[in-house]
Amino acid sequence: MKTFELKTGKPVIISGPCSAETQEQTLETCRQLAASGVVDVLRAGVWKPRTNPGTFEGVGLKGLAWMAEAKRGTGLPIAVEVATSKHVESALEFGVDVLWIGARTTVSPFAIQDIADSLRGNRDVKVLIKNPMNPDLALWAGAVARLENVGIDIKNIGLIHRGFSYFGHTKYRNSPMWHLVLEMRSRFPEMAMICDPSHICGTRTYLLEVSQAAADMRYDGLIIESHICPEKALSDAAQQVTPDALVELVKSIRWRADSTDDPEFKKSLALYRSEIDQIDCEVFDLLSRRMKVAEKIGRVKRDNNVAILQGGRWTSIVDKVVAQSGKLDLSEEFVRTVLEAIHIESIDRQNKVMNS
Ligand code: PEP
Ligand code: MN
Repeated sequence: MKTFELKTGKPVIISGPCSAETQEQTLETCRQLAASGVVDVLRAGVWKPRTNPGTFEGVGLKGLAWMAEAKRGTGLPIAVEVATSKHVESALEFGVDVLWIGARTTVSPFAIQDIADSLRGNRDVKVLIKNPMNPDLALWAGAVARLENVGIDIKNIGLIHRGFSYFGHTKYRNSPMWHLVLEMRSRFPEMAMICDPSHICGTRTYLLEVSQAAADMRYDGLIIESHICPEKALSDAAQQVTPDALVELVKSIRWRADSTDDPEFKKSLALYRSEIDQIDCEVFDLLSRRMKVAEKIGRVKRDNNVAILQGGRWTSIVDKVVAQSGKLDLSEEFVRTVLEAIHIESIDRQNKVMNS
């Protein structure tokens, strides 16, 4: 079997169906992916954590047997999702090379500890931990620590960025929150960070733009769902692509160099960075002035015994700024996020004044 490491400097490409559904679908998807030569690891979910009961919850052990057959036929390592120690035992019996822990499992320290205990002392298997559903890096880092504590070599642990649940409007199924993941990478620089554009996007439409963004940020690989007949998939139909489309997608991604010694490049970068630093100073200077005005409003309200929240006023501010977003070349989502942060701080300031 082709051996592989998680972090080699060359991006690792993992693909296969969201779920193993039938023997034919699993083997044919894997056969086509392997034949393309662009895929390093085959994936399929056999136990599916679904939001609603009554939806397709995976084929279980049968699926492991199909994946083991795909491994024998293609020579490629295989990956499945595990959520319990029982899953881990079965997956290891079937020769699974990479276990991934799903986003719904990473949120649960009991489940992670159960998985970790069943892996104690295992020297070979690789484990990829998806980010938790909610944007909480401590939970993600806690899962890493639990695996390290049972003796799993750090080079066999990797992270998958699949986006975060987000209350509010975003064009993606799960908001990428790239900044959080950059923070996680700086905490665990030796660990591979793999992007999962499929679960970030939720539809095929944005797969390339998210994959390219990951490549631009020097991620260590991608995990993308593929299916011989995506429209008929029993789970995540809208986001899966055919093996042919997967190959085209992967080939069109440009992986960039980490850095360059070119003096022209260094000069332009230094120039733009100082421009950004200057703008940041100005932006925060303006925000500080805005908060001082909010405090003045708080004082006037206090002296006149008026409540902080005046219905309609905030909506009209948001509407006014959002209407400008196109002209400013800023996305509506970004404008709303910034305004929300300003609003929280503003209310906090007014509260302090009211109670002083
Ligand atoms: C999956 O990879 O099919 C999956 C269930 O992903 P997530 O845990 O990211 O939702
Ligand atoms: Mn899926």
